[in-house]
Amino acid sequence: MDYFNYRRGKLFAEDVDIQAIAEKVGTPFYVYSHRTITRHINAVRDAFSGHPHIVCYALKANSNGALLRIFAREGFGGDIVSGGELFRARKAGIPSKKIVYAGVGKTGPEIRAALKAGILMFNVESNDELRAIDRIAASMKKRAPVALRVNPDIDAGTHPYITTGMKKYKFGIPVDEALESYRLAKSLKNIEIVGVQKHIGSQLTEMRPFVESAERIVSFVERLRSEGIGIKYLDMGGGLGIRYDDETPPEPHELLNRLIPLVKHTSCTLIIEPGRSIIGNAGMLVTSVLYLKSNDQKNFVIVDAGMNDLVRPSLYDAFHKIEPVAKKRRAEIKADIVGPICESGDFIARDRMIQEMRAGELLAVRSAGAYGFSMSSNYNSRPRPAEVLVDGDKFHVIRKRERIEDLIAHEQIPAFLK
Ligand SMILES: *Cc1c(COP(=O)(O)O)cnc(C)c1O
Repeated sequence: MDYFNYRRGKLFAEDVDIQAIAEKVGTPFYVYSHRTITRHINAVRDAFSGHPHIVCYALKANSNGALLRIFAREGFGGDIVSGGELFRARKAGIPSKKIVYAGVGKTGPEIRAALKAGILMFNVESNDELRAIDRIAASMKKRAPVALRVNPDIDAGTHPYITTGMKKYKFGIPVDEALESYRLAKSLKNIEIVGVQKHIGSQLTEMRPFVESAERIVSFVERLRSEGIGIKYLDMGGGLGIRYDDETPPEPHELLNRLIPLVKHTSCTLIIEPGRSIIGNAGMLVTSVLYLKSNDQKNFVIVDAGMNDLVRPSLYDAFHKIEPVAKKRRAEIKADIVGPICESGDFIARDRMIQEMRAGELLAVRSAGAYGFSMSSNYNSRPRPAEVLVDGDKFHVIRKRERIEDLIAHEQIPAFLK
């Protein structure tokens, strides 16, 4: 559910006409709906119905500082995967005590920064990392709170690039080796075991993998307890899918209605790390039609947003709904919607039925709030797009469009080339 709707044929974000934003900030731009975000936040919070919990928003889905401020105000924590995200989370006012830190390649300086900040826990992905954290914590005279990321070897049934909970992928510690890793953790003086974590993938649209992996994790926690290893936090990761096309993923309350009974007897605090399900359908990318062309096989609608702005179609063959910002009484054609980048893989949609468009008209690429801007780049030396937040009948630029000069801001010309 979102607050992007047509009024007399014109697309609005809440009470703001998309066309009016385009006239003010130019295209392409991302636009987010504050009401949609708060609706999704409330849906997650209400779904816990009193069970002790922390919701750690996965910053990598979208880490714009204005949006993070909304999460911070609503009492959400953060799931981070880098020192950069730690910086952003704290800058936005997310308390360190609600920050969990995942990722297979945490560096020494990143671990140090997280220990200094006093995060809730490291979600550790290998024995080597465990030893590194212990060493660094010892040098700082601290004890590092950790959960081990356990890989339950469950096929999430999603795209291979966003499946994580199987042995063939780099994430976590296989469940059959995890007990040994916990014993290692227990033997390390500067490690404090506080939790167990799992995250099996993203854009999951069925309940089964969530439930099966949760069952495995709960029985693992019982095994740990029988060895005298106490667990306070059960972190079930993120990954709840959204509707891009015609998927029907479970609602947060449906998911938690299944998970909470499974974990209740452990009296652990339940942590979840949603990203996409909060922000995905709260944003869209707005782009202008530049040119039209066709040959005897294809129609092409060439737009001013490329794979540098939104890489999901190119990277995952992802589907995004595309809608005209102004609906007209025109015929539909089948077309590829493509960007200006010099790659055949630069498309937003292929073989899509769409109203006949004219140069200068706007298209909205729906469900682009998650893994949209956060995965954008400057490829082809294109400044990154603006980001806009709509709140009722007002809109605010929350990230300015990059300027051409920004492209070379960090470059240096050696003296011999001057
Ligand atoms: C990416 C990620 C998430 C968020 O995934 P979504 O599919 O956006 O909900 C949560 N936890 C970890 C460890 C992740 O890597």
